[in-house]
Amino acid sequence: MGTSASGIDAANQRAGAILTVDLRALRANYRLLRARAAPAACAAVLKSDAYGLGALAVGAALYDEGCRHFFVAHLEEGIALRPHLAQDAAIYVLHGLPAGTAGDCLRHHLVPVLNSLQQIAAWQYLARAKGGALPAIVQIDSGMSRMGLSASELATVQRDPALLDGIKLHYAMSHLACADQADSPMNRQQLARFVAARQALPPCPASLANSSGIFLSPQFHFDLVRPGAALYGIAPQADGPNPMAPVVRLQGRIVQTRTIAAGDHVGYSLRYTASGERRIATVAIGYADGWLRTMSNRGAGLVDGIAVPQVGNISMDSVTFDVTALAPSQVAAGALIDLIAPDQPVDVVAATADTIGYEVLTSLGPRIHRQYRG
Ligand SMILES: *Cc1c(COP(=O)(O)O)cnc(C)c1O
Repeated sequence: MGTSASGIDAANQRAGAILTVDLRALRANYRLLRARAAPAACAAVLKSDAYGLGALAVGAALYDEGCRHFFVAHLEEGIALRPHLAQDAAIYVLHGLPAGTAGDCLRHHLVPVLNSLQQIAAWQYLARAKGGALPAIVQIDSGMSRMGLSASELATVQRDPALLDGIKLHYAMSHLACADQADSPMNRQQLARFVAARQALPPCPASLANSSGIFLSPQFHFDLVRPGAALYGIAPQADGPNPMAPVVRLQGRIVQTRTIAAGDHVGYSLRYTASGERRIATVAIGYADGWLRTMSNRGAGLVDGIAVPQVGNISMDSVTFDVTALAPSQVAAGALIDLIAPDQPVDVVAATADTIGYEVLTSLGPRIHRQYRG
């Protein structure tokens, strides 16, 4: 590797683990989703730092691709993102307005998703004070019981439409609970409830589908779709091949290797015992970096396409692999092991960890060096 000229290379060399985001693949995924959802517009969900990939870089790439609708979860995320996106890009805040924050939301040119009558009242109060209409999305709970107006709150709005005076409704919105299972009856049920609920609101565009919802029938698309996961390469459907391009590569760096004898143990609580002579590589990523401890003694890394089993308990800052199958030159200190790669997609890692790709990506911590290609 030698001495590096640029600071970026130096950070790469120092890093125990490297997350490489392929912006070209990200953009291709955006185009695929947009084409599938057309004529609906296609937003991008950038909450939790764009699922760990970096909201600023992802937002800039997708703006460049023509995306003008962005979603974050928390007001604070929107405030951090706002200066990095041009003013013609809308940034919607899914959690809406915590008490006392309507002024902040307006000042930072963010659009709240109003989830309750209190949030609607707070936004209307500010609109009155400003003497003009303020933009918002109103969310309806269509069966997930997580966020949005309940049936009775919706009935209140229907009886008294003046509750929405001064609010310019960009969209009526809801969220699907089971969209990754195309044959779940819940999808049709939520669709029917959403269609009915829209009647209670003044006419306005609508948004229902997340990534998985885009792969249901076009009735689910309405005017705006809101993918997150599929943009980042996570499979949008439980069954069948993944139509999305892989966006993320995660590599861990080998700190050192050692040869152990039959009967020797590896790691905390001695969860792995060698049945014969083994070569063990210690890699600088651990559960503190989001390399989930549920993967202890399970799954594998890849070196030059060859699987190397993960052995022993995962530590806070390191993890151990059995690299006996490889030549010592391939696994010298400093070499990189693929942890997430096209041959070992994020969904495979998630299955090993008994979780979902979303949790794998959003767990990846700040010690992992992020770099961008394309
Ligand atoms: C997270 C989220 C999305 C994006 O969901 P994906 O499954 O990642 O596509 C869309 N809408 C809402 C309300 C969300 O919370």
